Amino acid sequence: MSQKHFDFWPVGLPRNITSPATNLFYNVEVSAARYPDKPYLIFFEAPLSYGQFKDQAERLAGFLQQDCGVKAGDRVLLVMQNSPQFILAYYGVLRANAIVVPVNPMSVTAELEHYLHDSGAKVALVAQEVYPQLQPLLGKLDRAIVAAYSDYIKPTTDLRMPEVVSAPRQPIEDEGVTLWVDALAAKRTPGPLTVGPDDLCVIPYSSGTTGRPKGCMLTHRNVMHTLLTNAFWFGGNSDTSQLVVLPFFHVTSMQGGMNAPMFYGGTIVLMCRWDREVAAELIQRYKLMSWTAIATMVIDFLANPKLDQYDLSSLVRVSGGGAAMPAAVGERLQQLVGSPYIEGYGLTETIAPTHVNPPDRPKRQCLGVPIFNTDSRVIDPDTLQEVPQGTVGEIVTNGPQIFQGYWRNPAATEAAFVALDGKKFFRTGDLGYVDEDGYFFLVDRLKRMINCSGFKVWPAEIEAQMYKHPAIQEACVIGAKDAHRGETVKAVVVLRATHKGKVSEAEIIEWTRQNMATYKHPRIVEFVEALPKSATGKVQWRQLQEAEMARAAQA
Ligand code: AMP
Repeated sequence: MSQKHFDFWPVGLPRNITSPATNLFYNVEVSAARYPDKPYLIFFEAPLSYGQFKDQAERLAGFLQQDCGVKAGDRVLLVMQNSPQFILAYYGVLRANAIVVPVNPMSVTAELEHYLHDSGAKVALVAQEVYPQLQPLLGKLDRAIVAAYSDYIKPTTDLRMPEVVSAPRQPIEDEGVTLWVDALAAKRTPGPLTVGPDDLCVIPYSSGTTGRPKGCMLTHRNVMHTLLTNAFWFGGNSDTSQLVVLPFFHVTSMQGGMNAPMFYGGTIVLMCRWDREVAAELIQRYKLMSWTAIATMVIDFLANPKLDQYDLSSLVRVSGGGAAMPAAVGERLQQLVGSPYIEGYGLTETIAPTHVNPPDRPKRQCLGVPIFNTDSRVIDPDTLQEVPQGTVGEIVTNGPQIFQGYWRNPAATEAAFVALDGKKFFRTGDLGYVDEDGYFFLVDRLKRMINCSGFKVWPAEIEAQMYKHPAIQEACVIGAKDAHRGETVKAVVVLRATHKGKVSEAEIIEWTRQNMATYKHPRIVEFVEALPKSATGKVQWRQLQEAEMARAAQA
C-alpha cells in the first residue's frame, strides 16, 4: 500500500515541495538581513538579536578556522545544555564549513571518549559544568572552547535560575583550552562558505536498532526538509514566539526549538532546565504562543496548583514528539490551549518528523501521516515484504529527511535500509500499522530501546557497563513502567557466587549512577538465580520484558 491511497492531508498543503538547496547557515544570513534588531532568543531576560547572533557566530567560525585549524568537513564536538552558546556554537561550526557533533551534556568521560574517538573530532565546544568530564580527554583534542552560561543572562532577573546558569565564569589554565569570551574577543573573520546542500551538516548519535551509539550522517538538505515541516505543519512564522526547553542535542528540539525559528525568523525564550513555575511565568511575561513539549513536562505543568494564577491565554499551540502523549493528558492540555497537541514521529536518523498527526484532522494516540515528499510503508520484518493495510509490521520510510547512513559504519548502514519498488526505505525498528485513512499507529518496538520521557536508553550499552562490576556475573536490562517517566530502566542481575547476599540493590544502583549519564542508570535492580536463555545461549530479553509488562498490568 503506497502513499497514493492516503486520503487525509492537512487542508491547503501540497503533497510535495522543493526544499531550498542551501547551506543551513544561509538561514542565519536571511533572518539577520530581514530582522537585524529583533530578538532571535531571550535567555534569562537577556535578548540576543538576529544581527548580534550572526556577528558572534561568524567570529566563532573565524576563531575555529584560524586558531583551532578547523577545515571543511571536520567534525566538532558540541556538549552544552540549552543556552545561547549552544546555538551560536552550532551555527559557528557550520559557518566554518565543518560538521556539528552534538552530544548529551550529561555524558560522563567514558561516553565522551566514545564520541570523540568515533567522530574523530579534534575540537570541542563545551559548557563549563561539563568541562570536568572532558578534561581527562584534553590530550586527544587540539583545542576545547569553554563557555559559561552566565555570560549571556541579565544578572538582575527575578526568574529562578539553575545553578549551572548563574555560576560565574571560571578561569581555566589548562593547555589547549580557550574561554568562549576570549574566542569571540579575538574578532576573527571566517573564510568563504564553501559547503553545499549535499555536504554533511550534523552528526547526532543514536544506537539505531542495536549496539553502541552511532553517528547519524545528516546533510544540510536533510535538515532543511524537516524545517519546512515545522514552518508549514506546526504553523511557525516570523510572528511565532516560542518556549523552548527540550534539549537541543536531540533532534526534536534541534529542529523545532532552534533551527526552525532561525529559518522563519521567530523568537525563542530559552530554558535550560525544566521548571513548571518558570515555564508558566515565561509564557505569561512574553505572551508566548507556542511550546514544544513532551508528556512528562505537560503532566507536571498541568499539576501545578498555582497554574490558574497565570495568564496563559497567549499559548495556542503545543507540539512535540519522541514519545507518546497519553490521551488523557492531551485532552487536558487541549482544554487549556484550545487546540490539540500536535504530535510528530521521527528518529534521530530522520532529523525529527517523518510523520505528523495533522493538526486539523488529528486521530488519538496516533503518529499521524507521512509529511511532504515522504513515503512510509509497513513491512514484515522477516520477509521484508509489505504487509496489507491494518497488519502490524515494521515501519519503514523513504524521504528527503532520511539520513545518509551511520558514520564510518557501512555494515550498520546497510542493515538500516530495505529496497521496495526500487526505492531505499529506512528501517525504523518500530512496529506499527496503517489504518484505512493512511494514519500510522505505533504498537511496539522491534529494537531494544527504553524511552524514558523521550531520553532513549539502549540496554546493550548499559549491560556492557554493568559487566564491569566485580559482583555481576550476568545482567539483562529491560524497561519497566514508570508513572513519571513513562518507562524506566530495570536491570535483572545474576550475582557471582562469591558475592551472593553480599551486595545490595542500592549498591549496584549507586555504582551505575557513578558510571553513566544519570538518565541511563538502572532505577530498579532485581537479583535472579539465572537469566532465561535460548538454545544457542542468547539471553531472552523479550521474555523478561514481557514478564515485566504482565506484572505491571496486574499491579
Ligand atoms: P530518537 O532517535 O531518540 O529520536 O528516538 C526515536 C524513537 O522514539 C522512535 O523510533 C520511536 O520508538 C520513539 N518515538 C518517536 N516519536 C514518537 C511518538 N510520537 N510516539 C511514540 N514514540 C515515538
